[in-house]
Amino acid sequence: MNENDTGELKPTSQSGQASHLEQAPTVRSLSELIDRVTGRGFQPPQTAEPAGLAETLPFPFLALVGQREMKLALMLALINPAVGGVLLIGPRGTGKTTAVRSLVDLLPSVPRSLCYYGCLPEDVEHGGIDAVCPDCARKYALGEPLAKNDPVRLVELPLNACLDDVIGSLDERAVLHDRMRLRRGLLNQADRNLLYVDEVNLLDEEVVDALLDAAAQGSYTVRRGPLAASYWSRFVLIGSMNPEEGHLRPQIMDRFGLRVVVHGLEAAEERLEAYRRVQAFGMSPRRVVADYFLETQLARDEIQAAREILPNVSLPEDVAHLGLGLTSRLKLDSLRAEITLFEAARAYAAADARDAVHPSDLQVVAPMALRLRRSEYIKEYFNHQQAEENELAAALQEIIGP
Ligand SMILES: [Zn+2]
Repeated sequence: MNENDTGELKPTSQSGQASHLEQAPTVRSLSELIDRVTGRGFQPPQTAEPAGLAETLPFPFLALVGQREMKLALMLALINPAVGGVLLIGPRGTGKTTAVRSLVDLLPSVPRSLCYYGCLPEDVEHGGIDAVCPDCARKYALGEPLAKNDPVRLVELPLNACLDDVIGSLDERAVLHDRMRLRRGLLNQADRNLLYVDEVNLLDEEVVDALLDAAAQGSYTVRRGPLAASYWSRFVLIGSMNPEEGHLRPQIMDRFGLRVVVHGLEAAEERLEAYRRVQAFGMSPRRVVADYFLETQLARDEIQAAREILPNVSLPEDVAHLGLGLTSRLKLDSLRAEITLFEAARAYAAADARDAVHPSDLQVVAPMALRLRRSEYIKEYFNHQQAEENELAAALQEIIGP
């Protein structure tokens, strides 16, 4: 991205790709990009491609019709992992899984450890030289790199995954050679990546517990026989679920930062446009991907740029108090409500290339940060508890005095 003298952003790529971007070459923010691409008409291709390609190419993220909040939530999670993940709740066929899988074209780069234990230069910066393994400590002292930049990956946790797949287990190949070694589990493969769990409400209970522990601590330990190893697991958790198929346990519900209720498209024109794009993609996936290529690249650059700005985005005290006013008015107990609200607002401000959060940022992100956080059970429990407290206070007053 370049910033020109009017403060607008424009794509750096000047490739010869025919595109609507040539007619409208500037975009001021990610949300504007979403709106503009969502609203543009689409010319279906006339010729079909040989079948078999559609499975390897993801549907372009920006070609998804409507679903603005879902797109925004996923992009904010890419900009700022501290929003604490995204949960997409809605019936089948509303594009939840397609949206998540199509994120692969937008994924930013992160420093990735070159070491088996996942040591990173920032571990030394935060925790001193003892925070990395002896090998990396030596490398660090010699000024050798501990990491290289690599795109974030999308790791999917299949519904039928068992605990061994998720946390790791004894490596059978090593056992064949009379050696004992642990195989990395999915949670470690998801380190510094996105971890996507479709139908998260149907996941096995022990898998959910392992997932939540790892997500909370950013690491986990596996013990198998005489072997034990600790692994990093600092991932952005993305879940989707159809509420018709079963509830989500409250402790996993609280774990997700942003929550989007995904409805089917309502307007007839939108449904028709969605049909046209899906049909065109089925006929000629490469053509549809090419048609959105420049916008996709632009969005990816925007996300990367926003990630770089993010550490310098501040939350002014008066804006923070507005946010606290919201959580207090809504009687939200979990501190994660504020954390997500503020971190999402910082990500949104960064996407807009600003260095401070505005009240309008809270306005955009508050619904996705704060909805579905109240528990009827807890409310009743507190009311019941309050009655007991009152009774206790009355008894003390009567028997012992003021
Ligand atoms: Zn190391």
